[in-house]
Amino acid sequence: MSKLPPTDVNSAQDITKLVPPQVFRQAVDQSALAISITDAGANIIYANAAFERTTGYGKDEIKGHNESVLSYRVTPKLVYETLWAQIKRQRPWNGLLVNKRKDGTRYLADVTITPVVGEEGLTTHYLGMHRDVTEVHRLERQVQNQKTLIESVVDAAQVAIVLLDEKERVLLDNQEYKKLIGDLGKEPALKILAAMHEQVGEAFTKAFEKHRNISSHEICIETTSRSARWFSCAASWFEEHDVGADAFYEPIHRHYLLLTIQEISELKRQQEALRINSLSALLAEQERIQSLRETLAAAVYQLEGPLNMLSTATSMLERRLSNQAAIPKREDSGSLPASALDDAIQKSREALDTLRACIPDHINESFHTVDLNEVISDVLKLTTPSLLGSSIVVEWVPSEKPSLVSGDSAQLSNLFKQLVSNAIESVNERRGGRRELQITCTTHPDHIEIFVEDSGLGIAEELRYKVFQPFFTTKGAARRHLGLGLAMAQEVVTRHNGTIDIDPDYHSGCRVRVQLPYAAGVANV
Ligand code: FAD
Repeated sequence: MSKLPPTDVNSAQDITKLVPPQVFRQAVDQSALAISITDAGANIIYANAAFERTTGYGKDEIKGHNESVLSYRVTPKLVYETLWAQIKRQRPWNGLLVNKRKDGTRYLADVTITPVVGEEGLTTHYLGMHRDVTEVHRLERQVQNQKTLIESVVDAAQVAIVLLDEKERVLLDNQEYKKLIGDLGKEPALKILAAMHEQVGEAFTKAFEKHRNISSHEICIETTSRSARWFSCAASWFEEHDVGADAFYEPIHRHYLLLTIQEISELKRQQEALRINSLSALLAEQERIQSLRETLAAAVYQLEGPLNMLSTATSMLERRLSNQAAIPKREDSGSLPASALDDAIQKSREALDTLRACIPDHINESFHTVDLNEVISDVLKLTTPSLLGSSIVVEWVPSEKPSLVSGDSAQLSNLFKQLVSNAIESVNERRGGRRELQITCTTHPDHIEIFVEDSGLGIAEELRYKVFQPFFTTKGAARRHLGLGLAMAQEVVTRHNGTIDIDPDYHSGCRVRVQLPYAAGVANV
């Protein structure tokens, strides 16, 4: 194999030795690019076969014509002026010109013009090379149009959309997404992703790692400026083939994450309000039934006392009569008072049985695992209007871990609602001083303890037990209090195997303590 001499291979002498002149001619003739050579006035003196194919003009036919014959007359004058200014300075020019073929059809030409400078330093000729790039341009424009269309659609979407690369860098976002910036930090997508990892859990993390699509999930984000905000978020991955030169033969795939984020805070607030309203209605109904039950039970209890006394008196009377032989027998007398009393007692007992039968049964208790933190939070939401109306400052300290008991959530809600209502009334009855309610829930090794403390009137030491009796009330009779509240609370606590009492050592108001056992199988670990 012959080696090139180490001298300047571009010198004309050396080149003609290596590449004979006719090879230059053949190379230009056969080039795939349309090539023309003009004089210094742009008059064509040579054109190759590709020029003929591209323009439709025969190689010989075009000779002597100015290159301007190719102009479609739509290229701005300034372009030509720039072109000429450049080549006049003996610098090559490259640009796009709208050309016209011989048949009148137009095409977009990517043109490069190189001045040919003679030995005297003057431009003697111009070398023109061009190719038809109409199709390439059409495709580029199409892609650009589609990109613009996609960007407009994404921008107009009513949900926040953001596109992230594998390093979680934002590549594209829309107006709705930009609205989240600020309240959710500089890059809301990162906060949303962190919340999804935390709140959706392992399922999300696994799908994320394996680039699997993730359907809509509701997540909650605490913000500094507003209360918690709720979002419905979905994530979809897509793969792109790298368009870089290095990936031409060895395709490189890149993954992109498209996050769609829709705020649902208002919907959540409405749902919550609806839930609290239904809970309020349920509790009111339960309270009414419970109060009826207590009233009837107490009435039965109250009537049983005198009836028993009457029954005892009748027995005594009967014994005395049978001991006095001189007195005619009861059967003979026909209308003795003892017999009438027996009848009355019998009728009264029947009436009491009827009354007892009217006592509503306990609604089928559906005990399930209930978190007391949630129950108390709901009760506070329910009683917020009364608390605000009474200007009472509430401090609610839930337990750090869930406080799970086995119970009926409606009954437990009623229990705490009763305690909160009592506290509000007591604070209202006290004139002046602090207006506070504190509820604390703490978990102990074998039970859960809840304190409901108020800064109201408090309960005298000697009444600490009496207040749990039905019909006992410390409130004025004029205010028509039945005195069933704490009796009901006591009953609910008993049904849940717990205890309720009043702290005797608390003197700046009233502190009610409720202790309840954990749900079966739940340990305080
Ligand atoms: P022109 O009067 O020809 O030119 C418009 C402006 O260009 C003038 O105002 C002037 O400022 C400048 N100009 C023109 N000729 C000269 C000159 N000789 N010296 C200094 N300034 C000048 N045009 C195409 O449309 N398509 C092509 O494919 C194409 N290929 C070319 C290839 C070569 C090698 C060269 C040298 C030129 C080529 N041109 C091409 C440019 C062409 O020569 C014309 O300038 C252009 O077509 C505009 O023509 P016109 O009749 O509208 O205006």
